[in-house]
Amino acid sequence: MTNCDMCGKNVEEIFESIIEGSMLKVCNACSSYGKVVSVKKINTENKKEKLKLSEQLKKSLNETYIDSIVVDYNNIIKEAREKKGLKQDELAKIAGERESVIQNLESKKLELNLGLARKLESILSVILVEKSENRLYENKINLKDGALTIGDLLDIKKKEHANKKTTGY
Ligand SMILES: [Zn+2]
Repeated sequence: MTNCDMCGKNVEEIFESIIEGSMLKVCNACSSYGKVVSVKKINTENKKEKLKLSEQLKKSLNETYIDSIVVDYNNIIKEAREKKGLKQDELAKIAGERESVIQNLESKKLELNLGLARKLESILSVILVEKSENRLYENKINLKDGALTIGDLLDIKKKEHANKKTTGY
Protein backbone atom coordinates (compact mmCIF):
# COMPACT_ATOMS: atom_id res chain seq x y z
CA MET A 1 0.00 0.00 0.00
CA THR A 2 1.11 3.52 -0.73
CA ASN A 3 -0.19 6.57 0.95
CA CYS A 4 -0.89 9.88 -0.69
CA ASP A 5 1.73 12.42 0.42
CA MET A 6 -0.91 15.06 0.86
CA CYS A 7 -3.99 13.48 2.35
CA GLY A 8 -2.49 10.20 3.55
CA LYS A 9 -5.13 8.09 1.88
CA ASN A 10 -4.24 4.54 0.80
CA VAL A 11 -4.25 4.46 -2.95
CA GLU A 12 -3.73 1.97 -5.75
CA GLU A 13 -2.89 4.57 -8.32
CA ILE A 14 -0.22 7.09 -7.49
CA PHE A 15 0.35 10.35 -9.33
CA GLU A 16 3.82 11.84 -9.25
CA SER A 17 3.06 15.49 -9.26
CA ILE A 18 4.93 18.73 -8.85
CA ILE A 19 3.01 20.64 -6.28
CA GLU A 20 4.29 24.03 -5.16
CA GLY A 21 7.72 23.24 -6.48
CA SER A 22 8.24 19.85 -4.89
CA MET A 23 7.71 16.37 -6.24
CA LEU A 24 5.01 14.55 -4.33
CA LYS A 25 3.36 11.19 -4.69
CA VAL A 26 -0.30 11.89 -4.39
CA CYS A 27 -3.71 10.41 -5.05
CA ASN A 28 -5.90 11.30 -7.96
CA ALA A 29 -7.84 13.91 -6.03
CA CYS A 30 -4.75 15.67 -4.65
CA SER A 31 -2.99 15.61 -8.02
CA SER A 32 -5.33 18.35 -9.15
CA TYR A 33 -3.39 20.75 -6.91
CA GLY A 34 -0.28 20.50 -9.05
CA LYS A 35 1.20 19.33 -12.32
CA VAL A 36 1.17 15.56 -12.87
CA VAL A 37 4.42 14.24 -14.31
CA SER A 38 3.73 10.54 -14.19
CA VAL A 39 1.12 8.06 -13.12
CA LYS A 40 2.07 4.81 -11.50
CA LYS A 41 -0.23 1.96 -10.85
CA ILE A 42 0.74 0.18 -7.72
CA ASN A 43 -0.62 -2.94 -6.12
CA THR A 44 -1.27 -4.55 -9.47
CA GLU A 45 0.23 -7.78 -8.16
CA ASN A 46 -2.07 -7.64 -5.23
CA LYS A 47 -5.02 -7.14 -7.53
CA LYS A 48 -4.00 -10.12 -9.64
CA GLU A 49 -3.76 -12.22 -6.53
CA LYS A 50 -7.22 -11.14 -5.54
CA LEU A 51 -8.57 -12.03 -8.96
CA LYS A 52 -6.88 -15.41 -8.84
CA LEU A 53 -8.36 -16.03 -5.44
CA SER A 54 -11.71 -15.00 -6.76
CA GLU A 55 -11.45 -17.53 -9.59
CA GLN A 56 -10.60 -20.25 -7.11
CA LEU A 57 -13.54 -19.26 -5.02
CA LYS A 58 -15.81 -19.37 -8.03
CA LYS A 59 -14.62 -22.89 -8.72
CA SER A 60 -15.14 -24.02 -5.20
CA LEU A 61 -18.54 -22.41 -5.23
CA ASN A 62 -19.52 -24.32 -8.31
CA GLU A 63 -22.28 -26.05 -6.44
CA THR A 64 -23.91 -22.71 -5.86
CA TYR A 65 -24.41 -22.39 -9.58
CA ILE A 66 -27.42 -23.92 -11.20
CA ASP A 67 -28.01 -25.11 -14.75
CA SER A 68 -30.50 -23.16 -16.74
CA ILE A 69 -31.69 -23.31 -20.31
CA VAL A 70 -30.61 -20.48 -22.58
CA VAL A 71 -33.38 -18.06 -23.47
CA ASP A 72 -33.20 -18.39 -27.25
CA TYR A 73 -32.96 -22.18 -27.34
CA ASN A 74 -35.58 -22.25 -30.10
CA ASN A 75 -33.40 -20.30 -32.54
CA ILE A 76 -30.26 -22.15 -31.56
CA ILE A 77 -31.87 -25.53 -32.19
CA LYS A 78 -33.40 -24.43 -35.49
CA GLU A 79 -30.21 -22.86 -36.82
CA ALA A 80 -27.99 -25.76 -35.77
CA ARG A 81 -30.42 -28.29 -37.21
CA GLU A 82 -30.54 -26.49 -40.56
CA LYS A 83 -26.76 -26.15 -40.58
CA LYS A 84 -26.48 -29.92 -40.22
CA GLY A 85 -28.99 -30.32 -43.07
CA LEU A 86 -31.45 -32.13 -40.83
CA LYS A 87 -35.22 -31.94 -41.14
CA GLN A 88 -37.29 -31.66 -37.98
CA ASP A 89 -38.37 -35.30 -38.19
CA GLU A 90 -34.80 -36.43 -38.76
CA LEU A 91 -33.55 -34.59 -35.70
CA ALA A 92 -36.49 -35.98 -33.76
CA LYS A 93 -35.53 -39.51 -34.73
CA ILE A 94 -31.89 -39.04 -33.68
CA ALA A 95 -32.96 -37.53 -30.37
CA GLY A 96 -35.58 -40.22 -29.84
CA GLU A 97 -38.38 -37.69 -29.66
CA ARG A 98 -41.56 -37.06 -31.60
CA GLU A 99 -41.40 -34.62 -34.49
CA SER A 100 -43.94 -32.42 -32.72
CA VAL A 101 -41.49 -32.00 -29.84
CA ILE A 102 -38.88 -30.50 -32.15
CA GLN A 103 -41.52 -28.38 -33.87
CA ASN A 104 -42.81 -27.03 -30.59
CA LEU A 105 -39.32 -26.38 -29.26
CA GLU A 106 -38.37 -24.40 -32.33
CA SER A 107 -41.53 -22.34 -32.09
CA LYS A 108 -41.00 -22.04 -28.32
CA LYS A 109 -44.39 -23.57 -27.59
CA LEU A 110 -42.64 -26.21 -25.57
CA GLU A 111 -40.22 -25.51 -22.79
CA LEU A 112 -36.90 -27.29 -23.18
CA ASN A 113 -36.05 -29.57 -20.28
CA LEU A 114 -32.53 -30.20 -19.07
CA GLY A 115 -32.36 -33.83 -20.18
CA LEU A 116 -33.40 -33.13 -23.74
CA ALA A 117 -31.20 -30.03 -23.79
CA ARG A 118 -28.14 -32.17 -22.99
CA LYS A 119 -29.12 -34.60 -25.72
CA LEU A 120 -29.60 -31.86 -28.31
CA GLU A 121 -26.37 -30.21 -27.22
CA SER A 122 -24.37 -33.27 -28.17
CA ILE A 123 -26.31 -33.96 -31.34
CA LEU A 124 -26.14 -30.41 -32.66
CA SER A 125 -22.86 -29.34 -30.98
CA VAL A 126 -24.44 -26.28 -29.47
CA ILE A 127 -24.77 -24.85 -26.00
CA LEU A 128 -28.25 -24.89 -24.57
CA VAL A 129 -27.49 -25.04 -20.88
CA GLU A 130 -25.88 -22.21 -18.97
CA LYS A 131 -24.63 -21.99 -15.44
CA SER A 132 -26.29 -19.25 -13.49
CA GLU A 133 -25.83 -18.15 -9.94
CA ASN A 134 -27.94 -19.80 -7.36
CA ARG A 135 -30.31 -17.26 -5.83
CA LEU A 136 -29.38 -18.47 -2.38
CA TYR A 137 -26.03 -16.70 -2.62
CA GLU A 138 -26.80 -14.04 -5.16
CA ASN A 139 -27.42 -11.28 -2.69
CA LYS A 140 -24.77 -12.23 -0.21
CA ILE A 141 -21.67 -12.15 -2.32
CA ASN A 142 -20.65 -10.43 -5.46
CA LEU A 143 -18.15 -12.60 -7.27
CA LYS A 144 -17.54 -10.02 -9.92
CA ASP A 145 -15.85 -7.44 -7.74
CA GLY A 146 -12.89 -9.67 -6.97
CA ALA A 147 -13.00 -8.71 -3.35
CA LEU A 148 -13.75 -12.05 -1.82
CA THR A 149 -11.52 -13.18 0.97
CA ILE A 150 -10.71 -16.50 2.56
CA GLY A 151 -12.95 -15.34 5.38
CA ASP A 152 -15.85 -15.09 2.96
CA LEU A 153 -15.17 -18.56 1.69
CA LEU A 154 -15.09 -20.05 5.16
CA ASP A 155 -18.29 -18.23 5.93
CA ILE A 156 -19.93 -19.61 2.80
CA LYS A 157 -18.68 -23.12 3.49
CA LYS A 158 -20.12 -22.88 6.95
CA LYS A 159 -23.47 -21.85 5.55
CA GLU A 160 -23.34 -24.63 3.00
CA HIS A 161 -22.64 -27.11 5.71
CA ALA A 162 -25.55 -25.81 7.73
CA ASN A 163 -27.80 -26.02 4.69
CA LYS A 164 -26.78 -29.57 3.94
CA LYS A 165 -27.43 -30.53 7.51
CA THR A 166 -30.92 -29.13 7.60
CA THR A 167 -31.90 -30.58 4.24
CA GLY A 168 -30.23 -33.90 4.97
CA TYR A 169 -28.50 -33.58 1.64
ZN1 LIG B 1 -4.51 12.65 -1.58
